[in-house]
Amino acid sequence: MKAVNILEKEVWDALDEVLNHKSGACKCNKCRADIAAYALNKLQPRYVVSSKGETLARAESLTNNFRVTLTIALAEAVEIVSSNPRHDKE
Ligand SMILES: [Zn+2]
Repeated sequence: MKAVNILEKEVWDALDEVLNHKSGACKCNKCRADIAAYALNKLQPRYVVSSKGETLARAESLTNNFRVTLTIALAEAVEIVSSNPRHDKE
């Protein structure tokens, strides 16, 4: 048994989609991790105790409203990280 923040997976799943809409955004692993971390810090964590996998928790807690919130946090994260990447611009 362990406590899992189900948002971690959700954020990573949604990240590419949001990133693809932002032209000129760096998509390297470093920036992607920065974006994920920023979004996760903005969002209220949703910890569940994982025994039988996380699918159940996902189904019950991710409403459409929440998806909007998550997308907004990610879009903001992409904006901030891509305008100030923590490495030299190419
Ligand atoms: Zn980068």
